[in-house]
Amino acid sequence: MNIVWLKNDLRLYDNEALNLAAKDGVVLGLFSLDELRWNTPDRSIRHKVFTLRALYELSKQLIKFKVPVYIIKGNFITTLDRLKKECGVLTLYSHQETGNFSSYSLDKKVRKWCELNQVKWVEKRQNNVIRGLKKRDLWSKKWNEFMGKDCFKQPHFDYNVVIPEIRNSQLSSPKIPDLEWNDLLKFCAIDPLALDLACNSLPVNLNKRMDTLLTSFFRERCVNYRTEMSSPLKAEYACSRLSPFLTNGMLSIRTLYKELLATKDVLKSTEVDQTQLNSLRSFEKRLHWRCHFIQKLEFEPQLEYRCMHINYEHVRNQKTLNAQEEYLLNLWKEAKTGFPLIDACMNYLKMTGWINFRMRAMLVSFASNNLWLHWTHSGEHLARLFLDYEPGIHWPQMQMQSGTTGINTIRIYNPEKQLVDQDPNQEFTTRWNPNGWPHSKIDQIVDLKNSTQSARERLWTLRKSKTFVDLAKKVYHEHGSRMRQNSRLKRRSSSNTQLTLLEE
Ligand SMILES: Cc1cc2nc3c(=O)[nH]c(=O)nc-3n(C[C@H](O)[C@H](O)[C@H](O)COP(=O)(O)OP(=O)(O)OC[C@H]3O[C@@H](n4cnc5c(N)ncnc54)[C@H](O)[C@@H]3O)c2cc1C
Repeated sequence: MNIVWLKNDLRLYDNEALNLAAKDGVVLGLFSLDELRWNTPDRSIRHKVFTLRALYELSKQLIKFKVPVYIIKGNFITTLDRLKKECGVLTLYSHQETGNFSSYSLDKKVRKWCELNQVKWVEKRQNNVIRGLKKRDLWSKKWNEFMGKDCFKQPHFDYNVVIPEIRNSQLSSPKIPDLEWNDLLKFCAIDPLALDLACNSLPVNLNKRMDTLLTSFFRERCVNYRTEMSSPLKAEYACSRLSPFLTNGMLSIRTLYKELLATKDVLKSTEVDQTQLNSLRSFEKRLHWRCHFIQKLEFEPQLEYRCMHINYEHVRNQKTLNAQEEYLLNLWKEAKTGFPLIDACMNYLKMTGWINFRMRAMLVSFASNNLWLHWTHSGEHLARLFLDYEPGIHWPQMQMQSGTTGINTIRIYNPEKQLVDQDPNQEFTTRWNPNGWPHSKIDQIVDLKNSTQSARERLWTLRKSKTFVDLAKKVYHEHGSRMRQNSRLKRRSSSNTQLTLLEE
């Protein structure tokens, strides 16, 4: 029997693992709620409900092909054991996942179990992240090869195959399509009140919402993407808003890329103004970045908790916070910093589960630089709030915005300047600070100028150490983008600065 372990690939179209499993015979879908996947400080009920909803919609489609899907509540290995005893020969299929450290440890346990039990586990690439990549230089070539291939069509399931009846006792789960949505939530022990608080903006039908976003983005919303993506007010409309669907694999990156190319082709063949094409070029870059970032965590899973450049490792306090740090972190989390744009962004994020790139970067820069808090503490809070939480993007981005990679320019965002640039009429800020938390200078939790200067000095001083450049070269070799490499190398080495390698 073929078991498809459904993870972050909750779709029929362009799903290689599902396709292969269907070709080889009887298919059974399993979804694991194992605590290693779900009970970690970066995970929240918001993620769980979105994923369960996506799974629910997929299982409704799969049951039409007689493919049942079960949710496994307890230990995943125990379930695999039971199935193996009952069904004899098993093959496990899934996509290759670059998850958080905990889900990676579950993967390792499953791998070991498969070896011990002579079960084949077929894992297929989905995020265009290259497993076992030896040389970063080859990355772009491999990226293009994968994107250039055709998408996998919806799988063809053999209707004549008889699916063995799996007894409840084996899986401790009813089939999902037999359950109504509310019963499913009950089965997964999700409290309706918590659900309301965490997911009040969850659309009723996720697939429909995704299709609407996809169509409206390429037809009209993308026109001013490049110029409007940084303003929290305009980005809401101008950005694609597809990230949670990519994270949960309801949409494959290759499908999205092909949609983009098709739109560009149409535009090129007509007389259009260049704005839209420029916007689409910016969008295309970001689809590269998505994979480029996840590749970093794939190569070095420790980036979830260890600084990319080791010199920054003990600069901030990663262990138990002292009372002052705890106090500052809580004010930041509760949107009570006294800086109007910071607080508005946090309130908006809490409510919607999304915010644009620039404001994410600013929130992190403020916590890491002005409040001098370790990025793991603020990062866990943001991860729980982001509906699109993707560990491979999130942790390297947290490090980049905190200045700990050693290969990126140190950027400290000034929330007052951002307010003037990105929300000049204070429309967003007023709307998302409804309770009138004081926003005068004396209510600010930190002195902006002094804290910025102090952070800058601390971060730059480390760059002057003897070992810095050699270690930065190593980081660049393992993780750096090769785009524009040559011109940068020339420029930097001729000016003879401390650091010769910098990526965008
Ligand atoms: C501190 C921090 C944490 C982040 N954490 C996440 C995360 O957990 N999950 C996540 O999907 N994105 C994350 N991002 C990147 C980016 O902010 C989001 O991808 C983007 O805001 C999602 O909205 P969108 O789908 O409308 O993006 P669009 O602008 O429409 O872009 C389309 C897609 O491109 C990819 N993308 C866009 N910008 C980036 C980027 N800078 N780096 C890598 N990929 C990018 C995403 O997959 C996105 O869905 C983070 C950024 C920062 C600064």
